[in-house]
Amino acid sequence: KPRVFSGIQPSGDLHLGNYLGALKRFADAQNQGIQSIYCMVDLHAITVWQDPEALRHSTRELCAGFIASGIDPEKSILINQSQVPEHAQLAWIFNCVARIGWMNRMTQFKDKAGKNAEKASLGLYAYPSLMAADILVYHATHVPVGEDQKQHLELTRDIATKFNHDYGVDFFPITEPVIEGTATRVMSLRDGSKKMSKSDPSDMSRIALTDDADTIAKKIRKAKTDPEPLPDSVEGLADRPEARNLVNIYAALADMTAEQVVADYAGKQFGQFKPALADLAVARMSPITTEMARLMADPAEIDRILTRGATRAREITAPILRKTYDIVGMVGPA
Ligand code: ATP
Ligand code: MG
Repeated sequence: KPRVFSGIQPSGDLHLGNYLGALKRFADAQNQGIQSIYCMVDLHAITVWQDPEALRHSTRELCAGFIASGIDPEKSILINQSQVPEHAQLAWIFNCVARIGWMNRMTQFKDKAGKNAEKASLGLYAYPSLMAADILVYHATHVPVGEDQKQHLELTRDIATKFNHDYGVDFFPITEPVIEGTATRVMSLRDGSKKMSKSDPSDMSRIALTDDADTIAKKIRKAKTDPEPLPDSVEGLADRPEARNLVNIYAALADMTAEQVVADYAGKQFGQFKPALADLAVARMSPITTEMARLMADPAEIDRILTRGATRAREITAPILRKTYDIVGMVGPA
């Protein structure tokens, strides 16, 4: 039976890339009736420094972002990672299954650690092992994510395969990444070669889900582009990463294909396209922004939702962890 899991880090302001590449698609899975678990991954967030009060705030705001994007905490299971201890417990087992050589190939670690990798936290290095545990502690079969997570999902499959092989069991499923749509990799508005990220120091590089209409319009107006008008086919976007990014964002927001967008705006200047894109972004995002603000007015209710989510989650995770311990040879209750 299919089961969906995905997570987002409370590491800063949710942005358009998170919405189009992840949140929007989560609601689709839930509404198709697939059992879905969605997670605020606070243990992942602290792999780089987080101010404690900011982390608490971001976790609640992220929970509000999930709900405002259409995740129903009754239909789906909505949790905060550290409140379901089996994630971290299974991660330890996986730390002993995964190989150092596998981790050395992870591009996200290289990107985030930067030049001085010796100074990065051990947690940042082990991040993919915890991510594998997040997914496999539910025996999740499908994981909707943005393109940047593809390599980590391959590693999750490697860990499941090696565990099953080493212990001679058929216990952990081999998960399918689900990377679909026109916005699986939304790029920075300032640099068409970098993805839009919460951790990008430039606030102008991303549209936050908490931005007001004027801020959204300003950021799109100032987005980097080339001086050429829009081409008459998507092939014409091949060497124009910034132009391609704006077209893809438009397409995803309007539920159109990039081909249709280019057909509508062929030969038009960005001076015309950008205001249309800004209007569309505001129309799509302002209901979410408003709903997030409404939910954030009652943080105690958010905490209650997360506590209930954790209780439901542990009905799934506790037996799977116990069975894992049994397979590995740990003494414990039958
Ligand atoms: P950070 O910079 O702290 O890593 P982030 O913006 O990369 O933050 P994550 O919490 O790491 O966000 O990722 C949450 C989800 O959003 C993942 O499924 C990821 O693939 C997706 N995602 C992140 N950035 C983008 C993007 N630019 N385009 C599409 N999807 C994205
Ligand atoms: Mg990320």
